[in-house]
Amino acid sequence: MPISSRDIDKSFQNKVEEIASADFRRCMQCGQCTGMCPVVEQMDFTPRQIMHLIQFGQFERVSQARSYWTCAACHSCMVNCPRDIDIPQVMEAMRLLVLRDNEDQVHPNKLSPEQLREMPQIAFVSGFRKLTA
Ligand code: SF4
Ligand code: SF4
Repeated sequence: MPISSRDIDKSFQNKVEEIASADFRRCMQCGQCTGMCPVVEQMDFTPRQIMHLIQFGQFERVSQARSYWTCAACHSCMVNCPRDIDIPQVMEAMRLLVLRDNEDQVHPNKLSPEQLREMPQIAFVSGFRKLTA
């Protein structure tokens, strides 16, 4: 599917950069990370492809991937990355962003009085934390 510059979600990219403290823009798509990953066969997108989708700001597409849930955070990819990118941290950032994206669906101020009465307090805490994403 063609990607135009209008499709680049810069806000998503900034969040990945902020959370991971890793500059995914420096990735040169060499594929070393994919070659070293012990669980790549279980992934739908290889680590290199995940980096590429992030470089193109494709949050919708990358958020559907299961690769970062499969990532074992073993750091093999990072050791061999010629651009010294902290790939496991990028994977962790994706997990956080996807969780936060779902969390943004929770709006405690829109709950009915009945729901407010019946909902456990821990659910409110969870809801408010989600809204801070
Ligand atoms: S940290 Fe994750 S992506 Fe990197 S090699 Fe290990 S399992 Fe694969
Ligand atoms: S090893 Fe590093 S530079 Fe190469 S594709 Fe993976 S993240 Fe990009």
